[in-house]
Amino acid sequence: MKDLSRIALEVHASTTLQVDALYKKMKSEGIDVVGFAAGEPDFNTPSNIKEAAIKAINHNQTKYTPASGLLSLRQAVVNRLKADCNLDYTPEQIVVASGAKHNIYITLCSLINSGDEVILPAPYWVTYDEVIKMVGGIPVIINAKESDDFKINSKQLEANITDKTKLLILCNPSNPTGMLYSANELKALIDICIKHDLYIISDEIYYQFVYDNKKFTSVAALSEEAKERTIIINGVSKTYAMTGWRIGYSASNFTIAKTMGNYLSNSTSAPSTISQLAAEEALNGPQNSVYEMRDIFKERRDYIVNRINNIKDVSCSKPDGAFYVMLNIEKLIGRELGGRIINNSDDFAMAFLEKGLVATVSCIGFGCKDFIRLTYAASMEDIIKGMDRLEKFIGTKDK
Ligand code: PMP
Ligand code: GLU
Repeated sequence: MKDLSRIALEVHASTTLQVDALYKKMKSEGIDVVGFAAGEPDFNTPSNIKEAAIKAINHNQTKYTPASGLLSLRQAVVNRLKADCNLDYTPEQIVVASGAKHNIYITLCSLINSGDEVILPAPYWVTYDEVIKMVGGIPVIINAKESDDFKINSKQLEANITDKTKLLILCNPSNPTGMLYSANELKALIDICIKHDLYIISDEIYYQFVYDNKKFTSVAALSEEAKERTIIINGVSKTYAMTGWRIGYSASNFTIAKTMGNYLSNSTSAPSTISQLAAEEALNGPQNSVYEMRDIFKERRDYIVNRINNIKDVSCSKPDGAFYVMLNIEKLIGRELGGRIINNSDDFAMAFLEKGLVATVSCIGFGCKDFIRLTYAASMEDIIKGMDRLEKFIGTKDK
């Protein structure tokens, strides 16, 4: 038989989803494993949202919708972007897709020609790297250091721009680092993008989960020029604990939104009508559950950061937002743990899962070595258990 597509053969499965599947399998086999792998809120979807979905079914709202989403849902997105980020869009600029991951994919389909370069600060969420390659683009990685809070600056950005550069992908607050770019830091980056005529994909899916009264600013809110060249990616998965409902959305200029809509109308069409109506309730309805989740995530972050920094030979920086923490395991490289020599983060993650019974994600897939990503989107009980296991696995307690 003839070969599969050359591009397809280069695509790897998402590491986060792979580890999550392994964790869920172990759990279903009755193994007492703790899950710090996939970033998925452990809360239930709030009941007003579930009721909206049940109502949709009972009222036979079960037909196709416009490919870019129900007008009423796109209006709800517009209202939320105004209320939360002081952004002015119209429903024609909003595209609803089957999860924010899908919005990212169709954004790149709309922008990238084969050979175009896409600047990606590392550590990056694993999907960006794969999806850039899936559309024929070339990822250009800029390494951000832990000592710089895992953020890049305008000099690093400008040094990596060539005549092939098409766009910059930013995740703010970041998955996997949890770090937040301030308005001033964003402005410095955006000025460079404007100077070199680049687009910006700004993945703001964790925008509601920012702690310590730090202020989230959307890139698109910085100026009209910034807004015109920015594609905001967002969705209901994280903010409303709706990962399985598969609703993401984007906001962009009219031309990009229309092109993305064309992709949708010839591929998936719109997402499930029932999920769309649930998402509409999520965005329009009471927001108190979001703030309650944020407060709980903050408590968990404080606990996990404190525990990690009290274990010998590992450390982590305090993240500003999202629900991830980057465990620095540099000092463990070369040591034997769980019956295996730890040569890199993949070895650590595997040994910690097999022998420590804690599922985490190696950051090698995030373009960053000697770090492990842990999510604290897990119950406090599991976080305590997981930290006790980390202490035991490394074999030392006090610094
Ligand atoms: N962006 C980031 C940064 C993420 O961590 C995720 C993970 N779910 C997504 C986008 C995709 O979210 P979803 O497809 O569930 O809307
Ligand atoms: N985005 C989450 C994570 O990074 C969920 C898994 C995925 O979609 O990659 O863990």
